[in-house]
Amino acid sequence: MSDGYISLVNGGIGGKVAKTLGLPRPSVLRRYTEGATLTAGPVLVLGSTTGTGEDSDIVAQLLLSTGFAAPDLEVHRAVLGTEHVSWGAVVLVLTEVEHPDDLSGPALDLASTLRSLAPGGRVVTISRAATEDDAPAVAAARQGVDGLLRSVAKELRGGSTANGIVLTDDVDLSAPSVGAALRFLMSARSAYVDGQSLTVGSTAGSSSDWDRPLDGRVAVVTGAARGIGAAIAETLARDGARVVVVDVPAAGEALAGVANRIKGTALQLDITAPDAGEKIIEHAVSRHGSIDIVVHNAGITRDKLLANMTPEKWDAVLAVNIAAQLRINDTLMRSPAFVDAPRIISLASTSGIAGNRGQTNYAASKAGVIGMVRPTGKLMAKVDGTANAVAPGFIETEMTARMPFATREVARRLSSVQQGGLPIDVAEAVAFLASPAAGGINGTVLRVCGQSMVGA
Ligand code: NAD
Repeated sequence: MSDGYISLVNGGIGGKVAKTLGLPRPSVLRRYTEGATLTAGPVLVLGSTTGTGEDSDIVAQLLLSTGFAAPDLEVHRAVLGTEHVSWGAVVLVLTEVEHPDDLSGPALDLASTLRSLAPGGRVVTISRAATEDDAPAVAAARQGVDGLLRSVAKELRGGSTANGIVLTDDVDLSAPSVGAALRFLMSARSAYVDGQSLTVGSTAGSSSDWDRPLDGRVAVVTGAARGIGAAIAETLARDGARVVVVDVPAAGEALAGVANRIKGTALQLDITAPDAGEKIIEHAVSRHGSIDIVVHNAGITRDKLLANMTPEKWDAVLAVNIAAQLRINDTLMRSPAFVDAPRIISLASTSGIAGNRGQTNYAASKAGVIGMVRPTGKLMAKVDGTANAVAPGFIETEMTARMPFATREVARRLSSVQQGGLPIDVAEAVAFLASPAAGGINGTVLRVCGQSMVGA
């Protein structure tokens, strides 16, 4: 479950050989460590050269405010006179663009900074969502940002990433989730999120302690005995939550190990049981006093070409990966215990976006998760809650260790960061969406795939 090639090509001789042969040279990604600075260097805020430029002033102020809680952050507003600076992040504020012509100035300003981006640097665009009510030129400019950002992400090297924050028209830059998304995307917590956009659709959400945003919250993580689920449980606990870990009885020993490590509690349960929702609520409330966050992580694969598919394989995958989630969510949303700005986060997959040969059952279930989160988010909004999905690409786990060598190697390298992600990368995205400040992000899908080029 580790990718030895990365250390090989980042060593002296291996690096030289890879360079000579023109082989991919993935960088070691900058991941979160306690006490590390938010960014790999100073931040540059660039704005539209048309419009008032007020929005870029607002963003620069936001980065410097105490609420942003990054006291050592150095923020610049112009490239001029900073020739020797190695940028930790470049934030491109494009909320004021009204015509594709308006993109030229900021795009070329960004171009002049890219060679000075630090390893593990970040480009973050902030723009407005294109809608059917926009004038065609406005919609063209707004959608244009998306193409710009996805392409920059494909050009960056050195473990740097580019992602966007998209605001709907009724949301301004002071919405709590704008600052939260900016912080997440600039930070090392978003190491394997690349070429993606986070849509902030409302002013909901409240600011919280950035180091322990989940203090006082009770979280449930299904499929938490190993892999991504165990990493999610550990990360939510790191961020302050008390965590209930759930898995099938056969995984009981490993599950108890995770629970002990994070001082949480274990619940042995098959999530396809008709009363799984009731059992989860009962355990969380009786042991921890409430239930605030539910992460639907348990998932299975039973791969077969559709021509060879059996009813057992099809039904098992749909039952665990989507039907159980729907049933548990119904129970949660009827419960008086699940009403304090609750959060549902479901694990989807890029297979559910792009499709995958041999995975019709899995892709149908994961596309089902993606379909489910929007209407579920709407229902959750009634109690200030949210429902979102995280769609991992290729993550180094026992699930992917079982893939044939050649397929695994292709899946690893065919992404903008030329490597698979780690369970912690998915866990960081889940923890961000679970945080109080992310309350304005609802019904969305966040891909954690290193901008995988397989399919979508
Ligand atoms: P994994 O197989 O390592 O772990 C899944 C866990 O879910 C296991 O501990 C298993 O016992 C548990 N589980 C399965 N059925 C259950 C049931 N009925 N009730 C309770 N627990 C059950 O998988 P992983 O790689 O850590 O993946 C976690 C999630 O992420 C899954 O939903 C998976 O589809 C998704 N995902 C993984 C990848 C990847 O590359 N690993 C990519 C995309 C999506």
